[in-house]
Amino acid sequence: MNVKDNFESIQATILQACKKVNRNVDEVKVIAVTKYVSIDRAREAIEAGVVHLGENRDDGFLQKWEALGDKPCWHFIGSLQSRKVKNIIDKVDYIHSIDRLSLAKEIDKRATKPIKCFVQVNASGEESKQGISPGDVIDFIKKLESYKHIQIVGLMTMAPFTDDEKIIRNCFKTLRNLQSKVQEIKLPYAPCTELSMGMSNDFEIAIEEGATFVRIGTALVGNEKAEVES
Ligand SMILES: *Cc1c(COP(=O)(O)O)cnc(C)c1O
Repeated sequence: MNVKDNFESIQATILQACKKVNRNVDEVKVIAVTKYVSIDRAREAIEAGVVHLGENRDDGFLQKWEALGDKPCWHFIGSLQSRKVKNIIDKVDYIHSIDRLSLAKEIDKRATKPIKCFVQVNASGEESKQGISPGDVIDFIKKLESYKHIQIVGLMTMAPFTDDEKIIRNCFKTLRNLQSKVQEIKLPYAPCTELSMGMSNDFEIAIEEGATFVRIGTALVGNEKAEVES
């Protein structure tokens, strides 16, 4: 496992995907998802030039944050319990998992500055998936108006775990279409310029479909739990 080599090869893949659809490669930012790895491995990612780090649990996030400080740009990407908000709110730069009003309300209450948030969308409609149904997203975002500390910078989704590229691609297309709809209503607190989509196994497709943040764990920093077991 060499994080630097992985990062270089991921960057080459990103460049290729951008060329294929005529996108500027600077539009795509890589979030290293460090939830399965140690602080040392996360540090390797920073040394390799990764700027954005993502964690999906408050305890894991705080551990990494204590060790690595606020120099990386920190993304909270997992489902977030309202009672945990106060632990992380002044340490995160982005929250990718706004999926209910009660959570937005708690963030608004605890934040001391505007927080960059993504609305998490269940674009595939799978029952097991977190997120707002595509048909409810516009109404949901309209309801956030009174929460002065919430800024909706974009939409986030997770594609189904499948080999069927068409299903994955459709899921990303759904998110992009929704983004256009959000932009059309021109709410000052919801510029919605970003799309957080694409993981280790589908980031190439996500970039072809407009991703601006890809969240990559296993393919970039590995999975130390799986490495020990195998
Ligand atoms: C774990 C996780 C990722 C990264 O998954 P990999 O398949 O290891 O790249 C991305 N997004 C979210 C929300 C995650 O929980």
